[in-house]
Amino acid sequence: MMKYKRILLKLSGESLMGAKQYGIDENRLADYAKQIKEIAATGIQVAIVIGGGNIFRGLSGAAKGFDRVKGDQMGMLATVINSLALSSALENENVAVQVFTATNMAPIGRLYAKPEAVEALNQGKVAIVSGGTGNPFFTTDTASVLRAVELEADVMLKGTRVDGIYTADPEKDKSATKFDTITYAEIYKRGLKIMDLTATTLAQDNHLPIIVFDMDTAGNLKKVLADEKIGTLVHN
Ligand code: UDP
Repeated sequence: MMKYKRILLKLSGESLMGAKQYGIDENRLADYAKQIKEIAATGIQVAIVIGGGNIFRGLSGAAKGFDRVKGDQMGMLATVINSLALSSALENENVAVQVFTATNMAPIGRLYAKPEAVEALNQGKVAIVSGGTGNPFFTTDTASVLRAVELEADVMLKGTRVDGIYTADPEKDKSATKFDTITYAEIYKRGLKIMDLTATTLAQDNHLPIIVFDMDTAGNLKKVLADEKIGTLVHN
């Protein structure tokens, strides 16, 4: 039934807030864990990258007077917090999971390296790859594309609050229409922002297809993988 063997799922930190203004909504977390359990049970290999925007963003820290590099490091630590929260929620669902960190933080997580992450995936564990790229001035979208390419994932699934990519912001422009598929070239031509440019270019250069979809509707993750017409597929 499933078309993909290995996927990289990107979750934004902001979605983890659910109805809250800050931090982690345990209901949203439990919903994500259930959806991930459902797809992991099909035998598909699942790697996950989570953002940290629900806790801290380097740029907003810099605007408040923090040193940018320290602010970004705080943001990367926020992704580790979210990753631990998701790993705990997955364990509550009896899903085998291993947390990797971009920089050495043992025993909080295992230092990320491709062979170890692939080994975990081959053992049927969900691999949560936290800490962004480990470098400031990057985003978790870039980290997510990087890990997807490194781990040779068949596709990156970008779970968001909107159900795909539109010609314009559908909340502002009622005539906006959704793309079922779109090429990277078209994304640039139209000036659409699905991710920051670093992430988009890395994905395009490495021929990584990305599906942008609404992860906040329960059951959607499974539908995307079952090739139902959900979200927007971005490709070369
Ligand atoms: N970050 C970073 N390097 C990385 C990934 C993330 O410095 O490789 C920092 C950056 O400050 C960013 C924060 O971590 O603002 C949280 O990540 P992001 O904003 O991508 O999270 P999301 O928007 O997905 O919640």
